[in-house]
Amino acid sequence: VVDTLTKAQRSKRMSLIKSKNSQAELAVRKLIFGAGYRYRLHDTKLPGRPDLVFASRKRVIFVHGCFWHQHGCRRYKQPTTRTEFWNKKLGSNVTRDRAVRRTIARLGWRSLVVWECELRNPGRVLRRAMRFLG
Ligand SMILES: [Zn+2]
Repeated sequence: VVDTLTKAQRSKRMSLIKSKNSQAELAVRKLIFGAGYRYRLHDTKLPGRPDLVFASRKRVIFVHGCFWHQHGCRRYKQPTTRTEFWNKKLGSNVTRDRAVRRTIARLGWRSLVVWECELRNPGRVLRRAMRFLG
């Protein structure tokens, strides 16, 4: 397999993908803040540093980018170069996500995952989040 991207090009491309993910996170924050909920961000005391932490409710929300967390939706495209590297990298993300949610549950917290692609319908995301938060 010939890798056509230089290191710099790759890291630029990756940071673009990552910033897309954080745009999804910003969108979720805005929705939930607008509905009157208050939360902490990226609490390092909890496993996986959840994106939004509702401490008094013992609930957390993760906002997952479809590519990085392998959603399997239309937005997720299997990389066609360096497939072994990507399989390993993305596979370990998914394994980590699962372990994190399990640990969080064991600590008595509940978690909700909002996928990047779900934000095409913000109203639905908000309704789901409000049901989850109570
Ligand atoms: Zn998706």
